[in-house]
Amino acid sequence: MSVARTLLLKASDSAWLRENGTKAPFVRRAVSRFMPGESFDDMIVAARMMAGEGVTAVCTRLGENVKDLAEADEVACHYLEGIDRIHALNLACEPSIKLTQLGLDIDRELAYGHLRDLGARAHATGNYLWIDMEQSSYVDVTLDLTRRLRAEFPRVGVCLQAYLYRTREDLVDLMGRGVGIRLVKGAYNEPAEVAFPKKSDVDANYYALAQLMLDAGSRASGARPVFGTHDVPLIDSIRRHAATTGVKPAEFEFHMLYGIQKATQLRLVQDGAAVRVLIAYGAYWFPWYMRRLAERPANVWFVAKSLFG
Ligand SMILES: Cc1cc2nc3c(=O)[nH]c(=O)nc-3n(C[C@H](O)[C@H](O)[C@H](O)COP(=O)(O)OP(=O)(O)OC[C@H]3O[C@@H](n4cnc5c(N)ncnc54)[C@H](O)[C@@H]3O)c2cc1C
Repeated sequence: MSVARTLLLKASDSAWLRENGTKAPFVRRAVSRFMPGESFDDMIVAARMMAGEGVTAVCTRLGENVKDLAEADEVACHYLEGIDRIHALNLACEPSIKLTQLGLDIDRELAYGHLRDLGARAHATGNYLWIDMEQSSYVDVTLDLTRRLRAEFPRVGVCLQAYLYRTREDLVDLMGRGVGIRLVKGAYNEPAEVAFPKKSDVDANYYALAQLMLDAGSRASGARPVFGTHDVPLIDSIRRHAATTGVKPAEFEFHMLYGIQKATQLRLVQDGAAVRVLIAYGAYWFPWYMRRLAERPANVWFVAKSLFG
C-alpha cells in the first residue's frame, strides 16, 4: 500500500481532523465533486438528473460508528421515510446502509431491528436494500445479519471486498442463498493477515471473483451480480468474459460512485450495460471523503486547487 494511501486512511479515523478539517471552505468545495449536497433532496435532484441519462441510483446517507441510541433511531427513521419518498416519486433508487450507522457498535439486536424494518419497507415498496461492508472486524457480524435478513426478505444485497482473502468463500455461500453481491476492491486500511497488501493481487482476485459471480451455478439462486468499480480495463474484461460465456448485459450491473468516471458510466449505458451510480449525501462526510482521496491520491490535487477555486 502506498504511503499516501496509508496516511489518508489514517486521517479518515482522526476525530480532530473530522472536527476541524470539515470547516474549511476549500475542503467543502472539493468534496462537492463527489456529493451533490448534504440533504436527501440534493440526492434526489442528482438521481433524477442521472436517470435522464439512463443511469439509475443507489443512495446512502453518510455516517458510521454511531454511539448513541437516539441517533441510530433517527438514522433508521430517515431511511424509512426516504424509501417511502423514493416510492412516491417512482424513482429507481436503492438505499445502501452501514450497520454501524444503525447502532451495531451499541447493540447487535438493536441494529438488526432497524435493519429488519428497512428490509421490510424496501420489500413492501418493491425497492432493494444494500448493506455496505466496513472494516474487516465487522465482516462476520455483517454477513450473519445479512443472512438472517435474506431468510425473511428476498430483496437484499451486501458488499464484499476483493482485498480480503476470505471473500471467495463468503461469496459462494451468500450467492447460494440468493443474496445480491456488490463486489468492490475494498476501501479500508487492513493488515496483511487478512487482506492482499499488493494492489495487483487485489485486482487479480477481483477478476477471478467476478468470473465466479457470472458463472451460471452462482447465479442459479437469482442473486444479483454487481460490480462496484471504476477500473475501466477490469470492466472491459468482465464484459468480454460475459459475452464469451453467454451472459446477457441485463443479467449483471456496474455500480460507480457519483462524480467518478462519468464518461465511462455514459459509455457503458450506450453500450447496453446496466449502470447505477451511488449518490452519497449528509453532513458526516469526512471519513468517507478521506477514503475517496486514498483511492486516488492524485485527488489531493483537486483539494489543493479548491484553495484558489
Ligand atoms: C458503488 C460502490 C460502492 C462501494 N461500497 C463499498 C463498501 O461498502 N465497502 C468498501 O470497503 N468499499 C466500497 N467501495 C469502494 C471500493 O472498495 C474502492 O475503494 C473504490 O471503488 C476504488 O476502487 P476501484 O474498483 O474503482 O479501482 P481502482 O483501481 O482504485 O481505480 C480504478 C480507476 O478509477 C478511478 N478512481 C477510483 N477511485 C477514484 C476516486 N476516489 N476518485 C477519482 N477517480 C477514482 C481512477 O481513474 C483509477 O485509476 C464502493 C465503491 C463503489 C463504486
